[in-house]
Amino acid sequence: MSKKPIHRVSTRLAAITPSATLAIDAKGKALKAAGEPVINFAPGEPNFDTPANIVDAALVATKDPTSYRYTPGDGLLALREAVAQKVGVFGDAVPSANDVLITNGGKQAVYQACAAIIDVGDEVLLPAPYWTTYPETIKLAGGVPVPVVADITSDYKVTVEALEAARTDKTIALVFCSPSNPTGAVYSPEEVKAIGEWALENGIWVLSDDIYEALAYDGVEVVPMYRAVPEIADQLIVLNGVAKSYAMTGWRVGWMVGPADVIKAAGALQSHLTSNVNNIAQKAALEALTGPQEAVGEMREAFDRRRKLIVSMLQEIEAFDTPMPQGAFYVYSSVEGALGKEINGRVANTSSELADLILDEALVAVVPGEAFGTPGYIRLSYAVFDEDLVEGISRLQALFA
Ligand code: PMP
Repeated sequence: MSKKPIHRVSTRLAAITPSATLAIDAKGKALKAAGEPVINFAPGEPNFDTPANIVDAALVATKDPTSYRYTPGDGLLALREAVAQKVGVFGDAVPSANDVLITNGGKQAVYQACAAIIDVGDEVLLPAPYWTTYPETIKLAGGVPVPVVADITSDYKVTVEALEAARTDKTIALVFCSPSNPTGAVYSPEEVKAIGEWALENGIWVLSDDIYEALAYDGVEVVPMYRAVPEIADQLIVLNGVAKSYAMTGWRVGWMVGPADVIKAAGALQSHLTSNVNNIAQKAALEALTGPQEAVGEMREAFDRRRKLIVSMLQEIEAFDTPMPQGAFYVYSSVEGALGKEINGRVANTSSELADLILDEALVAVVPGEAFGTPGYIRLSYAVFDEDLVEGISRLQALFA
């Protein structure tokens, strides 16, 4: 009997590139599980424990039978109010709980924001190097990501001129992430203002990913878009969460803040997709936002110390060009100087090949710039223990000596 061939993976999903950062992380972890002393600079998560007051709040919530039920799909009212309060003033008003949607991590906020505003064929400007999830999410929503590259010569920051050159009559949105993953670049208050005013003038949405807002160093000020340009509130969606500021990656609590019509549409999508975020995790996130904040500063100090250490060690590698990042917990090195050269009898012609070579020859996991739309670079996360940091970068120094 002949069998009718079955339609398999949809064109839409077949076009998705799996997360390269997760792939490298998995390869590093597999080698480690096999007994290899791998040092992993790939993952984007703080290596601190979640602060005790937050864990305690979750323990209390676990014993509270009200936690065993669904919360409203949009999230617990108290948590939405706490997020609104944290934002403070949004445009000319204080946001209410109706302007906030609690999501399953910042990632779901990114996905739902794209789904809420993008129509088929809409173009979204995407400053590159970009977080690897953005282009896939834009494409899933039917949009066209338009990378606007800002390389090491422009401190990894796009200008209004570059954005304007990429703008067409199909441009509907700009993704903005400061401090940035993967570069750690932080836009100055003046730069945020200039970009916000340009977006406002041109009727362009800004998807402002503020997830690293608590992590800036050297006294650098992080000014959110809604503060720099309050008038933009009606075309701004803020994406954020507890993952990076409170060492809560595994808890999966994020949020989006924006105009009520968009939040309502995204909430309708979420009501069919995941419903509410884990009730206990929401109560933990409420404690994170409303409880003592000392731990945030302590973690920032530890990151700052490691930032200086890793950059000073990387700067000793001549084949790399490593600028000092001002925020987040990533370093983004240009590795052009290492390409096409013989290293341990092997030659890497791309940063992707170089990342493989580094993993094989030094047992050090780094993410190649290909994952962020800019080949020729590697990203290292310094959310690792000090001794691992020193050991890992010493191995790179020896490999490239
Ligand atoms: N935005 C950026 C720029 C990120 O780097 C991440 C995490 N890698 C997120 C959003 C999402 O974080 P989460 O889903 O863990 O809250």
